[in-house]
Amino acid sequence: MATNTREITRTTAGVPATDGDGVRMTRIIGSHELDMLDPFLLLDCFESDQPQDYIGGFPSHPHRGFETVTYLLAGRMRHKDNAGNEGVIEPGGVQWMTAGRGIVHSEMPEQEDGLLRGFQLWVNLPARAKMTAPAYQEFPPSRTPLERRPDGTEIRVIAGRTETGTEGAVKNPFVHPTYLDVSLPASTAFEQAVGHDDTAFVFVIEGELTVGESASPLGRRTLGIMGPGERISVTAGSSGARFLLIAAQPLREPVARGGPFVMNTQQEILQAFDDYRRNRF
Ligand code: FE
Repeated sequence: MATNTREITRTTAGVPATDGDGVRMTRIIGSHELDMLDPFLLLDCFESDQPQDYIGGFPSHPHRGFETVTYLLAGRMRHKDNAGNEGVIEPGGVQWMTAGRGIVHSEMPEQEDGLLRGFQLWVNLPARAKMTAPAYQEFPPSRTPLERRPDGTEIRVIAGRTETGTEGAVKNPFVHPTYLDVSLPASTAFEQAVGHDDTAFVFVIEGELTVGESASPLGRRTLGIMGPGERISVTAGSSGARFLLIAAQPLREPVARGGPFVMNTQQEILQAFDDYRRNRF
């Protein structure tokens, strides 16, 4: 039923941004062009084979009040935090970090040259969970399910569940996210059920993707925000398509932002800066 199938309501290519120690990226969500897509606060896309674009990395910095999701397609990133946790994120692996009441960490490229390509998504926490203890859900590529379908489709399942039942390892009881990295052969169709009112978008990594009944396919590096509906229905162009499909329940709570802190009120942001200055993280 066409009425049930989601259609694109808006597209954006994001804006060029620099963060950390001079890391160049495209900010797709969390910019002046697209402030947020509740519960998603930010989406950054890194893609460069020029070391000067990424070598500075993200030296020690804090977070409070939300989750950061790092997913790499190429290259490696090492993370270290103030609680002694440390690890390397690899292509096809994911780090889903609950910053909760506070974490101070660094995220640095584990390479001096070559291609670094990947995404960082920020997922908001509800008011009742913003001050929980920090936690990690970290899975190497070998423990991140990869579904292979007879038609050649491949789906890396970070979170949520595909139509055929492959379940991502990441759990989030607050917004019940779906996070899929889908590779489609030429002209192949793909469908995925989502909650009717969940926020949902696709981001095209390679190729062209037709969404719903649209006459104009989305091109590479384009974000397509979808209107309501229970099904997502897409078809790859003649050279195939690779895309992220991300969805979650909106929180519908007030959002107060202060750099690396995202709370519900300005008072809580001031408190976060104060706590960080006093080494209470
Ligand atoms: Fe960070």
